[in-house]
Amino acid sequence: MQKTHKLQVEAIQKGTVIDHIPAGQGLKIINHLQLMDKKLRLTVGLNLPTSSGEFKDIIKVNEWHLADSEAENLFLFAPDASINQIDDYLVVKKYKMKAPKELKGVFKCRNHNCISLTESVTSKFLVDQSEQGLRLQCHYCERWFRDWVFV
Ligand SMILES: [Zn+2]
Repeated sequence: MQKTHKLQVEAIQKGTVIDHIPAGQGLKIINHLQLMDKKLRLTVGLNLPTSSGEFKDIIKVNEWHLADSEAENLFLFAPDASINQIDDYLVVKKYKMKAPKELKGVFKCRNHNCISLTESVTSKFLVDQSEQGLRLQCHYCERWFRDWVFV
């Protein structure tokens, strides 16, 4: 018997699909990538049920390609997300995000005495991934962080 697969979000002809985003992170990613400001055609699904009984967000962007540097920043929002490049309704490339070695200009340092907050420098963090999860170390004050604030 043929298995019918019904798309929960309309397919796009050409562009990028960011799938398996943890529910609640989709809008943050749209904001972070400034997708609304770029006048791109977006199709977004929020709180979609997955086959494993959880919920996910999905973002489909017409005529747009996710740059590698942008993909690295997304890792902190959605480490298990998959990126699908679509051409003529087909997935031509599919990949998972990789943990970046460092993040520049994404987060503000949470140390109020950090020089990066008063000097006009781009924030910079080393990324450390272990079984306990992700940690960031500020390049300027060398403090470690587990929760972060966006620039
Ligand atoms: Zn710092």
